[in-house]
Amino acid sequence: GHPQRISINLYLYGKGRRLMLTREITAVELAEAMRRDFVANVSHEIRTPLTVVSGFIETLQTLELSASERREYLELMSTQAQRMQSLVSDLLTFSRLEGSPVPGVGEWIDAQAMLQQVVNEAQALSEVLGRGPHQVLAQSGPSFLIAGARAELHSAMSNLLNNAVRHTPAGAQVRAGWTLNNDGGAGFYVSDDGPGIEAEHLPRLTERFYRVDRSRSRETGGTGLGLAIVKHVAQRHGGLVQIESALGQGSTFRIILPPSRVLNHSD
Ligand code: ADP
Repeated sequence: GHPQRISINLYLYGKGRRLMLTREITAVELAEAMRRDFVANVSHEIRTPLTVVSGFIETLQTLELSASERREYLELMSTQAQRMQSLVSDLLTFSRLEGSPVPGVGEWIDAQAMLQQVVNEAQALSEVLGRGPHQVLAQSGPSFLIAGARAELHSAMSNLLNNAVRHTPAGAQVRAGWTLNNDGGAGFYVSDDGPGIEAEHLPRLTERFYRVDRSRSRETGGTGLGLAIVKHVAQRHGGLVQIESALGQGSTFRIILPPSRVLNHSD
């Protein structure tokens, strides 16, 4: 029979205007287009820091530079090398998630202990970034166990906290905690007093390589893959990601887990 056709909307952005084109394609064509898009994105993301590093190598080889100029160039090269490292590490996380089966019950994880651990790590990051010692706070909340893959959940929770720390200036706070929802599911939230995000970006934030502001994201050391990883992990656990934000109002990111993943002692 005929392969099933899917209708997709392509959005072209430019000069503050948006143009929508609708095309009918098959599922195979769609998968192929997404793969090509992904490879193109990855190549672009790697090419930029690589160009910077090779450029500086050439400069160091051809110009007589003072000790302080050399130091400055080496520092810039080191930053770009770290960018490539985070990118490769995020890509590996991604392909591990895609290639491995959805975690079953896995192990029972203590929600509050895990919260304390990721908050401690985020506090360390915030100190390294010079944001002051009290930027990140763990909020008290209910005690319960989660059935899931520990490493995946840890990486998703850390990603949300690290984003909040990176985007929130010194003096403003980041809070993280757990809630139990009425349906018996649970929510992990990270709430910050940072700059907030304009509504038009919210639906696309969890797309791979989507960034609100490319150049700023580069400064803050992001790969553009963080929230895509968070969404993947949430979905693998039967859950989802919710984002609430407005410009100048801070942001709240939530990972919602279904009741089947939550063991509540007070039940
Ligand atoms: P990145 O690696 O660039 O941080 P992410 O997928 O983690 O990529 O996030 C996508 C974009 O969402 C970021 O580039 C940033 O613009 C925006 N963003 C994420 N978290 C926050 C936050 N807490 N406050 C403001 N903007 C955020």
